Amino acid sequence: MEIESMVANSALIRAREGGGGKGRSWKWREMLRFPHISQCEDLAMSIERDYYSLCVKQPIGKKLFQLFCQSRPDLQNYISLQDALSLPLPDDRRVCVCVRICLHTSLTSSSLCPQSNQCVPVVLPHEQSCIQSLEFDPCGDVFHDCREDLHEYLSGEPFLQYQDSMFFDRFLQWKMVERQPITKHVFRQYRLLGKGGFGEVWACQVRATGMMYACKKLEKTHVKKRRGESMALNEKQILEGLDSRFVVNLAYAYETKHALCMVLTMMNGGDLRFHIYNIGAPGLEEDRVRFYAAEVCCGLMHLHQESIVYRDLKPENILLDDNGHIRISDLGLAVRLSESRMVRGRVGTLGYMAPEVISHEHYGKTVDWWGLGCLIYEMTAGQPPFRSRGEHPSTSDMERRILTQQEEYNDKFCQEVKDLCSLLLTKEPRQRLGCWGANGKEVQSHAFFKKINFRMLEAGLVEPPFKPDPRQVYCSDVQDIEEFSTVKGVILDQKDNNFYSKFNTGSVPITWQNEIIEMGCFRELNIFGPSGSRSPDLDW
Ligand code: ADP
Ligand code: MG
Ligand code: MG
Repeated sequence: MEIESMVANSALIRAREGGGGKGRSWKWREMLRFPHISQCEDLAMSIERDYYSLCVKQPIGKKLFQLFCQSRPDLQNYISLQDALSLPLPDDRRVCVCVRICLHTSLTSSSLCPQSNQCVPVVLPHEQSCIQSLEFDPCGDVFHDCREDLHEYLSGEPFLQYQDSMFFDRFLQWKMVERQPITKHVFRQYRLLGKGGFGEVWACQVRATGMMYACKKLEKTHVKKRRGESMALNEKQILEGLDSRFVVNLAYAYETKHALCMVLTMMNGGDLRFHIYNIGAPGLEEDRVRFYAAEVCCGLMHLHQESIVYRDLKPENILLDDNGHIRISDLGLAVRLSESRMVRGRVGTLGYMAPEVISHEHYGKTVDWWGLGCLIYEMTAGQPPFRSRGEHPSTSDMERRILTQQEEYNDKFCQEVKDLCSLLLTKEPRQRLGCWGANGKEVQSHAFFKKINFRMLEAGLVEPPFKPDPRQVYCSDVQDIEEFSTVKGVILDQKDNNFYSKFNTGSVPITWQNEIIEMGCFRELNIFGPSGSRSPDLDW
């Protein structure tokens, strides 16, 4: 390895090791300084007063609403109950906890509602019925209705009172910090990670918090020359509307003089292509195949729930994080389905295209279940289903194979994985697994996934079977990544600026708020003045 690469790698490794505030700029408090509450008036007038968005979805909003409830003796119990109800637990402990919650709440229900005329409309299921439904379906959400009742109650009077409290003022102050303009100076830049169609992807770090991200740059001239505007905007808009632990999150979208930038969840563990082919014999062990397939399946379900078809499933688009969890990345080809629930368009990578895409039909989510079949096949066999290693069939030959050829299964495939692949690689979309009406649920119930507890997986509580080495950089050496060519003769004008301003929307609220909490900045900065004082203390 060349010296340049070693220097770039060790700088990156040092930066990402820095926890506990190490990566923050010495000016970080100033960078995140709250404006005076009088400067939040416009925001207070314009912000949508939606309980679900303000107190459930936005992480800082949720925390402040909880702090408000904890400050109120008559609301404390709701918050404890809410915490207890949303704790993800392994199956064997759920029954005990469920009984404990039911008993405890029925015993203390008088303290839940000190004034009987304010009685809470939360109906807890009887413990016996909880046990029965958990025996029937260990993954079932027994407290769903009761959580809804709680929200129903909290979104009434308590939510109104919250908006009059210093906690909501503080929320507005955080929102003002969140909405600060984003420029390249917000970040430190580390090594180049990879190259995409419109530009390069770099490792970067937010100066104020120390958080590491990957910055995907789209060169303005390239985008214009290749008419990539709608594709770029599409990718950005789809990403900003998602909040899934199995899809990379967008944290910031901003522009520089030469590029449009998407700042994404940093995935340090490399892509699945690298893990399938570059470590030992091609292919992965069964437990890893199962785990990655299960997480990808959840990611696809999250996309499909938002009516998004991904269309680009292949090993190089599935990235690993520090702990070995995967996320789906590169949503450039993803599309939001309209009412008709169908699209057309021959997009994707030929080797992974579903038959209905190749034959120019209208299609929907079915293509992603085909893609999952290809992925599971490739992870197991160490080669894709319709092309051997080193073979380069012509486009028409490849199309013919996908449309007509039966894929082959060697002895690396156990019975279950073989069965799953052949159900997913069913040529006729209506007969394919995942397309029978129950969508992803059908896939999750397949025998190959019997060992996977999807409820725990969704909560991020299943230990990955492989953890990437924190001292290794899982990407090509810097000098081996081809330099990005420059385009000449493209002139940017006002129409381009209109498009850039649609792209350049700054921080994405949920991701930004998670960053502030995760990096410890919330804990350190969210200090209130002496108890009882109406406005938050502004100096420290
Ligand atoms: P394109 O859409 O232009 O193909 P990608 O999103 O696939 O761009 O990114 C190009 C390359 O950059 C990837 O192959 C990968 O090596 C790297 N990369 C992309 N996103 C991330 C990320 N979130 N974390 C780490 N590396 C990434
Ligand atoms: Mg790509
Ligand atoms: Mg792309």
